[in-house]
Amino acid sequence: MVDRRTDMSANVSPKYYVDENCIACCACVLEAPLLFAIDEDQGIALVVRQPQNEQELSLMQATLELCPVGAIRDDS
Ligand code: SF4
Repeated sequence: MVDRRTDMSANVSPKYYVDENCIACCACVLEAPLLFAIDEDQGIALVVRQPQNEQELSLMQATLELCPVGAIRDDS
């Protein structure tokens, strides 16, 4: 089994990432499909793109608030 706490290799950058609490509810993917995708192998969402502008940053911040388990983390 993959250790979700340490295997963040598919995440693009350490600034925003999804931690081991993700339940793959897809809320972040539906809200921001440019920034998130579900990794079917690991069964969790991944940040596939870090915010590149203010609009994407706002979108990312919105996903932090809507995640039901607080699994989207800001490492800045
Ligand atoms: S909203 Fe949270 S729990 Fe749902 S898929 Fe995204 S990171 Fe995982």
